[in-house]
Amino acid sequence: MTLTSSLGVPTVPRRIDRPPAAPPASGPLIDTYGRIATDLRVSLTDRCNLRCTYCMPAEGVPWLPAKQLLQPEETIRLIRIGVTRLGITNVRFTGGEPLVARHLEEVITATAALKPRPEIAMTTNAVGLAERAHTLKAAGLDRINVSLDSVDRKHFASITRRDRLDDVLAGLAAAKEARLEPVKVNAVLDPKTGLQDAVELVRYCLGNELQLRMIEQMPLDAGHRWTRSAILTADEVLGALREEFSIEPDAAPRGSAPAELWRVTDEASGETGLVGLIASVSHPFCGACDRTRLTPDGQIRSCLFAREESDLRSLLRAGADDDAIEAAWRAAMWRKPAGHGINDPNFIQPNRPMSAIGG
Ligand code: SAM
Ligand code: SF4
Repeated sequence: MTLTSSLGVPTVPRRIDRPPAAPPASGPLIDTYGRIATDLRVSLTDRCNLRCTYCMPAEGVPWLPAKQLLQPEETIRLIRIGVTRLGITNVRFTGGEPLVARHLEEVITATAALKPRPEIAMTTNAVGLAERAHTLKAAGLDRINVSLDSVDRKHFASITRRDRLDDVLAGLAAAKEARLEPVKVNAVLDPKTGLQDAVELVRYCLGNELQLRMIEQMPLDAGHRWTRSAILTADEVLGALREEFSIEPDAAPRGSAPAELWRVTDEASGETGLVGLIASVSHPFCGACDRTRLTPDGQIRSCLFAREESDLRSLLRAGADDDAIEAAWRAAMWRKPAGHGINDPNFIQPNRPMSAIGG
């Protein structure tokens, strides 16, 4: 029997019958479960100017040594190999905070020049975005996801440990003005204030024509303090929204998108829009995963929760040609695990925190 998440996406994929030891040498980036990766997440830096409680401790984490970080031309070469040889169609820049990576515009410009040109997106905390949204659009950025967990100034400051709500809201406004659309808001809800924050975020996003996505908190915090019982689940959030809004499931097919979409209407204001709930923990969607990840220090990760990484940086610096790098990337994805395993009794959190993997 195939287990499925609440909207029918397989929770765990079915393995290819007797998979060969090595992946095919050409064609799409496939794993032994038949999943094809077309979405490349590029973490440009592990540095960040916020300290979100579910990601970093207050004192930060030791940054990766500078000599281990990929140089701009190394990052650009790997993206080119992904797009022109491995069938990557979507590239998303993330971090750490991509806006603090000095080579962000340079890497976006080079990615936009690739043929076939991939769709280019970025996930950011938006601190400093107000001044750069137009330049990023001109460089080739197509769309943006802004992380915003609360529109209450005190809650925001307590979650991110920085009083920067006004910068983020200015960044969101600039992203809309620069037409980095659709502008999406990503929220990871705080267990204490999250249900109230969710209702206020929905009102804010409906009023400003922003697409809100609320994501269950995952065990990727550097402090390893995550516990399953403390997080707010998508079902709990939906329950709180139903008390305030009228809600219908969205009829469009979900495909590989992780969000379950709901049409939410505020009867008081008449405003309506789509709100997504991403139930990564309570209803995993690993069976539909289409992602491959590049860390700022040049490691390929087949999954956020992978225990294994594949070191492309050493290959690059040893003078490997594109064929060798392509083969190593294919081999890394071939070994992609069936699922994240968060709900398994013997689950072990990865050593790298989210800020050094790239969400
Ligand atoms: N600094 C940027 C930002 O915050 O948008 C990009 C990097 S951040 C690691 C990418 C996304 O991962 C953000 O939307 C953030 O909320 C999310 N994230 C971080 N830690 C998480 C966790 N433990 N569980 C779920 N999502 C998390
Ligand atoms: Fe920084 Fe993003 Fe992590 Fe928050 S979630 S600490 S903004 S990397």
